Amino acid sequence: MILCSNPTFGYLAYKNEIDSAIKRVLESGWYILGEEVKGFEQEFAKYIGVDFGIGVNSGTDAISLALRAMGIGLGDEVITVSHTAVATVAAIEMTGAKAIMADVEEDFFTLDPAKIEAAITSRTKAIIPVHLYGQPADLDAILKIAKKYNLRVIEDCAQAHGAFYKNKRVGSFGDMACFSFYPTKNLGAIGDGGMVVTNNAELAQRAAMLRQYGWKQRYVSEFAGLNSRLDELQAAVLRVKLAHLDEDNSKRMRIAKMYNNQFAGMDLILPKNRKDCTHVYHLYVIRTKKRDEMLRYLKKNQIAAAIHYPLPVHLQPAYNQGQNNVNITENLAKEILSLPMYPQLSDSDVQIIIDAVKGFYNEF
Ligand SMILES: *Cc1c(COP(=O)(O)O)cnc(C)c1O
Repeated sequence: MILCSNPTFGYLAYKNEIDSAIKRVLESGWYILGEEVKGFEQEFAKYIGVDFGIGVNSGTDAISLALRAMGIGLGDEVITVSHTAVATVAAIEMTGAKAIMADVEEDFFTLDPAKIEAAITSRTKAIIPVHLYGQPADLDAILKIAKKYNLRVIEDCAQAHGAFYKNKRVGSFGDMACFSFYPTKNLGAIGDGGMVVTNNAELAQRAAMLRQYGWKQRYVSEFAGLNSRLDELQAAVLRVKLAHLDEDNSKRMRIAKMYNNQFAGMDLILPKNRKDCTHVYHLYVIRTKKRDEMLRYLKKNQIAAAIHYPLPVHLQPAYNQGQNNVNITENLAKEILSLPMYPQLSDSDVQIIIDAVKGFYNEF
């Protein structure tokens, strides 16, 4: 079976370095908030091009902590998309704020700036664009609207570690930005992990305090916080993988190019690349009206394609409110299909996948 993503290969590719990083932590006797987390926060912030990084428990926590650091919560509204991982919306609702889900651009799967203004009310406090599948959202247009209405912007970069929007990396544009290090992400840990990044020293300090009981000084909670710490083991592994992130992203882009070249001219809609941006292909998502048949055919041929995501967030029982004109989102959900994509996917496996897609069209 060719899997859609494969974290085991992500470990084996750097096995010696990762094993020695793990051993280093085990032998240090210091497992929570130590040198590894501090080092990784500095290295990752530098890589993204921002001043501060705060390691937290998950990407979901990163988003809710960023909102809370800004004082956003009960009674407030936050505009985002329905076409995203449920985590984006769950993180907003965890703070007590209400998620207002706007539609995406059909070509790019990211928040449509033209749909934002209709979703703004007197309660709106922030916009959370998601750089979905590894493709940067239309940041210039989104930041312009945010400025006009005095709204905060938090980038959800959980699928776009290392992607460039024009000449800067995503995560360096918003007031804050959030990353996930879930094992299958472009930068993946061996468990849960996340980070909030920002250039704003005050927000950085609030986020750092929130992640540990509201402490600035140990044992003194200045406000109600939580326990959302990144641990030393994850940070040590992530430092190894960060050093290889650009190389890994290049491999994803190379595989995407192979797919693009051989699918050209077929009855498929291929991923489009926003002008002057890099798409880091967390996922390679095609569109076809015969999606369900193709998914079944590929499974039968030992290829685990997948759907990201089968049910838009606003159609899920927990969050079935707050949608705002999401026709494109609902249509996309019926046609999208993610083909296997990870840096270590071999050329011969890519060819097997391409041949299977071609075989599907010969049969149907
Ligand atoms: C993975 C993901 C998250 C949440 O990350 P976790 O670390 O799993 O909590 C948030 N937003 C998007 C778009 C994601 O893909």
